[in-house]
Amino acid sequence: MGDVSDWHRIQENLRGSMTQESFRNWVEPVQFSHFGENSDMHLMAPNLDVKDWLEQEFLTRIVAAARSAGLDISNVAIDVAGSGSEPVQGAFDFEPEPSPFNPKYTFDRFVVGSCNDFAHAAARAVASRPAKAYNPLYIYSGTGMGKTHLLHAIGNQLYSNDSSMRIVYTSAEEFMNEMVKSIRYSNMRRFHDRFRKADALLVDDVHVIGSKERTQEEFFHTFNALHNGGKQIVLCSDSNPATIPGLVGRLRSRFSWGMMADIQPPDLETKMAILDHMSDEKQVNLPEDVCSYIATRLNTNIRELEGVLTRLIERARFVNSKITLAMVRNMFGSLELRAPEGPTVESIQQAVAAKFGLPVADLLARNNSRTVAYPRQVAMYLCKRLTRMSLTSVGKAFHKHHTTVLHSIAKIEREIDTDRELKATVEELLGKLKPTRYSQCA
Ligand code: ADP
Ligand code: MG
Repeated sequence: MGDVSDWHRIQENLRGSMTQESFRNWVEPVQFSHFGENSDMHLMAPNLDVKDWLEQEFLTRIVAAARSAGLDISNVAIDVAGSGSEPVQGAFDFEPEPSPFNPKYTFDRFVVGSCNDFAHAAARAVASRPAKAYNPLYIYSGTGMGKTHLLHAIGNQLYSNDSSMRIVYTSAEEFMNEMVKSIRYSNMRRFHDRFRKADALLVDDVHVIGSKERTQEEFFHTFNALHNGGKQIVLCSDSNPATIPGLVGRLRSRFSWGMMADIQPPDLETKMAILDHMSDEKQVNLPEDVCSYIATRLNTNIRELEGVLTRLIERARFVNSKITLAMVRNMFGSLELRAPEGPTVESIQQAVAAKFGLPVADLLARNNSRTVAYPRQVAMYLCKRLTRMSLTSVGKAFHKHHTTVLHSIAKIEREIDTDRELKATVEELLGKLKPTRYSQCA
């Protein structure tokens, strides 16, 4: 029967069917041991982690590669180098820890407006019915729009509903660092336990795993273990999974399995409400003219709003005066451009109706047959993409309840990745409806 050179041939065969990184991590360090009685091929892994991984991931591939190399083997057994009875490290004990969540980031302290009501509603649903409402929940937006706040709000609520729940909160960066450390110290078991035995996994800034092959592989298995086990996963990211550079397809599709919710830059009313809310919390009086002055001029993000408000409060304290319009005017030099004006709900309804060859009235009628319901769902989806309407006002515009709007949008978001025709239709409509005019703030 065969010998070590057979294993080398098998290794070469495997090399072609996996990434270089996987090969280096899992196959290269494995040595041939011996052939057993029942035409079992025994291999020697350097440690338990490699053994586990091979057994979970590569066993059938190794057998197949051996057979295609002409070896008549029935099975592959993996032993661990050094000892036949290496002590198995203790399983991860979940010690109740203090809540890792920022107590300031709660739902109560999250101001809801049309820019974020969708993400907020989804986050609330997940927090009150983990793994029952949407799984995973994927929240994405530009920076400073409240993703981390919502993630903590979910964590805070889960924790206060059931403090024995194993809620694992991490950033993708931390996940990666922990993984690297665990590999280095042969501690992967503990790492797996920590993440795969969670009751809920909340991951911030998940986009950073793009292009990081090994981290994605590890995250993929974590995701599967939890999702299969009916555990809630919540992910935050700076962009849609489809546009994260270097994200592997299997993660991209998994990220969009449940609910994808984006947060838009805040509209004027929401900016004012947030400033109001923040000044209340800081116990200062923010005159309305100052509030609207700031809100009209800042088009960036909520963190920035907070920064301006803090600076303003400091300045007022410094000169020992109330906050005044003159003071804030001084802080802002020139005018800024306001975001382009988008299409109206009516123009969206018209464009969609024309595209599907229906009268607009059909979209607003009670008719729920697929020929009408489907275009209506597309139109609702476009309202979310192109306008700053709240779910409720989209609902009103179509004579539907806001939960119907939520489901319709979620459905299209889900299907758009896999349904090419739908994608093309939506892109065509987006092209037609794209805003063109810029307007200046007064
Ligand atoms: P992101 O994670 O999207 O970059 P954060 O969650 O860190 O943004 O939000 C930035 C700051 O703005 C935080 O202090 C957060 O509490 C605040 N913030 C964001 N959105 C809201 C909101 N809707 N209501 C109240 N505060 C908000
Ligand atoms: Mg954040």
